[in-house]
Amino acid sequence: MESWMRAKDIKRLAIMGGTFDPVHYGHLVAAEGARHEFQLDRVIFIPSGRPPHKTSEQITDPVHRLAMVKNAVQSNAHFETSALETESDGVSYTIDTVRKVQELQPSADIYFITGADAVLQILTWKNVEEILSTCTFIAATRPGYALESLEHRLSSLSREYINNIYTMEVPALAISSTDIRNRVFNGKPIKYLLPERVEKFISNSKLYCRED
Ligand code: ATP
Ligand code: MG
Repeated sequence: MESWMRAKDIKRLAIMGGTFDPVHYGHLVAAEGARHEFQLDRVIFIPSGRPPHKTSEQITDPVHRLAMVKNAVQSNAHFETSALETESDGVSYTIDTVRKVQELQPSADIYFITGADAVLQILTWKNVEEILSTCTFIAATRPGYALESLEHRLSSLSREYINNIYTMEVPALAISSTDIRNRVFNGKPIKYLLPERVEKFISNSKLYCRED
């Protein structure tokens, strides 16, 4: 059992979902900002198994992605990882994860941290209304990001749900996993874009590099 599952002192728990291929400082800064602003007791990083939105792309083995996240959160006592999605076969839907987390921590308030880009995809998610009524959303936006456009795009949802989506400004970290993978592939540096332990894991496991 993962330690957050048996913890009895969790009042506010956040799910940080993502592909994490690989995890980087953008994810960590957003999670830490949310932890502070919303007084979260725990942030659980849950790498996706086979994410419904990315099935056509080549994705790194879930075991490697989970290992990288474990390395990345090690130094933060409020951060943990979960294999909830990586250990089950097949497509993982956010709704299933949210239900499981709520079952395991029935008295906790559940939050869901995402980037503003991902919040815009919410409408395409399975059981969006149940997700929005179970979790409070924390959408990380960069300074200057047009919040009105977010509101506008979500306007097909009822007020009750929109009111459950909070935005939080994080420093503009133009870091993405896609860019990191491309950098490794092209032999460019990734130092200072992600934790050193993750960088080491990538080089030891020869991830993202040219196969020659
Ligand atoms: P990819 O380039 O492969 O899409 P990514 O860098 O966007 O990867 P994901 O694993 O897709 O990383 O993202 C997980 C979550 O973290 C999403 O909600 C995403 O919006 C958010 N996120 C990603 N990068 C940042 C960043 N630099 N700052 C804040 N949030 C981010
Ligand atoms: Mg992304």
